[in-house]
Amino acid sequence: MPKHLYMETELERHQYTVRRPAHCNGTGLHSGKKVRLSIHPAPANSGIFFVRTDLPRQPIIPARFDLVGDTTLATTLEDGHNRISTVEHLMAALRSLGIDNARITVDSHEVPIMDGSAWPFVEALRKVGRSRQQALRKYLRITKPVGYSADGKSMRAEPGNTFQISCSIQFDAALIQKQQFSSTITRGSFIKDIARARTFGYVEQVEELWKNGLALGGSLDNVVAIHWNRRSILNEGGLRYQDEFIRHKTLDIIGDAALAGAPILGHIIADRSGHSLHRDFLQTLFAQPDCWEYVTFSGKNH
Ligand SMILES: [Zn+2]
Repeated sequence: MPKHLYMETELERHQYTVRRPAHCNGTGLHSGKKVRLSIHPAPANSGIFFVRTDLPRQPIIPARFDLVGDTTLATTLEDGHNRISTVEHLMAALRSLGIDNARITVDSHEVPIMDGSAWPFVEALRKVGRSRQQALRKYLRITKPVGYSADGKSMRAEPGNTFQISCSIQFDAALIQKQQFSSTITRGSFIKDIARARTFGYVEQVEELWKNGLALGGSLDNVVAIHWNRRSILNEGGLRYQDEFIRHKTLDIIGDAALAGAPILGHIIADRSGHSLHRDFLQTLFAQPDCWEYVTFSGKNH
């Protein structure tokens, strides 16, 4: 049972689902094929789960950290029989817009890449709105520092009463070099500062992927391609934020952390992290239940 706290807090106390189905159609990053995705209302306590409508018997794949398999290019959920890829930007939008429960139907093995950011999902979710559910939302509150590091990359969590992220990246490219970003993640800060940041890569990496039949759906419409000269990007229109790269890293951390299944209350500090490190961090966290607790909230006004 989660620990129940009576306190005045800005945090939402109840669970939410979408008010009506939201639709996002686009291209699959891996396959380059058209993908149709819909986000449907789901009962309280059911969490976020995917339904592969293209497969016989329409298998269900829950959005859980312990199902994270392949992490090249994107985060893939695999249950041993079925998989769904590129879930992280959608997961970040659902978590940050306060959607706890949703049944997501998708007619492919991947979520559409859209414009490479979480923005199209944010727009679709805002358009349909959300419904408050009876059940209280369960938060995962960090009570003791816990972390994981490997190969000079690290991720750790420290106690806190909000969801805060501080992260840094280091690239040789003159355009990026060392970038840092720190923010308390709320619905407002996500929409304003993070949601529009796109996926990025070196142009020759993208070409290499194409040569190997990978990332067939990757294009300047959904990837920021860093020029050979390392000082500019190939995309017309330039960057959406001057430090779009680290903001996209923050977006990926939010999306992968959402696979914890409950919003995290604590300060996540990440250095040069990526999808596989995010997965390993969550596994470390869940293997150390003395470092966190589940809590629900109520206050005198509710
Ligand atoms: Zn990403």
